[in-house]
Order: sequence, then structure tokens, then C-alpha cells
Amino acid sequence: MPPRVVSSRAERVAVWEPILRAFNRSIVKVSTANNLLLTAVAGSGVQQYLTCIDMKKMLFACSCPAYNADDENSRKRHILCKHLMLSIYHHHEILLEKSGVDPQEWISSLSAAQNHPHSNIMIPNWLYYFIKRVFASMGFEAGRFENPSQVREVLELIEEG
Ligand SMILES: [Zn+2]
Repeated sequence: MPPRVVSSRAERVAVWEPILRAFNRSIVKVSTANNLLLTAVAGSGVQQYLTCIDMKKMLFACSCPAYNADDENSRKRHILCKHLMLSIYHHHEILLEKSGVDPQEWISSLSAAQNHPHSNIMIPNWLYYFIKRVFASMGFEAGRFENPSQVREVLELIEEG
């Protein structure tokens, strides 16, 4: 991340709540093929949700209920759900490569955040700025999975490796 974007006292700053919640989830399995970054993310129970970042069509989607809510207002507020935010974190190197941004300062600032005594605050902060400065400028648009049974099949395939 460019110098002076985050203050050295950032651990005293509040972090956007949805990003913190993203880190309560964990990545179960990942598959990258044909320009698709497919990620299975653990839900609250045994449920897993599928996120997809299509690097060719420049679309993203998640299979979770919050992302697919038909309520326009809730969709606008939560364009990126926590599963997608976690997936962006996981795939940041591939995204950086495609973005045309100089990757070095982002990669080194992330490793500084990971090694910081307040890494639980510094990493979400890093992700917030990564989404704002890098991901948001890449021209991705929100898409939707068309077929829930295909989502289940993909999750099963990923699970089998
Ligand atoms: Zn989601």
C-alpha cells in the first residue's frame, strides 16, 4: 500500500465491521482455472458458499443469501459480501498482477500488517484499502450465479480437489 495511507497508529482506528466479519470466515478450498478464481468459503454452520471472480468477463458473484438478496437497498449496501472480501484477500496476488498497479508496495505492506502486533486490525485495514484502491479500479461488476444446482456441483468438485 502506498506510504502514509495508513497511520502507524492505525490500531486505534475503527475497522469497517463487514471486513472484520470477513475474517471470521475461513477459506475451505480454492480452484483457479480458465480465468476463474473459484473459492469455497465456510458459512456459519456446515454450509459452504461459492465465490467466483471471473478475470476475463470481469464479474464477481457469491452464492450466499446476503449477496443474492432481492432487496435493492440491501444489495447496494452489501455489494461485496464477507465471502467475496475474504476471497479478494486470498487472491490478492493474482488481482495485483492483472491490475497494472506496482505490486511491491502492496505485498510488502501486507507482510508488515501480518507481522504487526495488532495484525487483527492491520490486516482488515490493508484489505479495506486494497479493495478501495486496487480492486475497485479494475472494472469488476457484480454478477449472479444463474443456476443454484451448478453452484452445488462446483462446490462438490472443489471439495474432491
Ligand atoms: Zn457471500
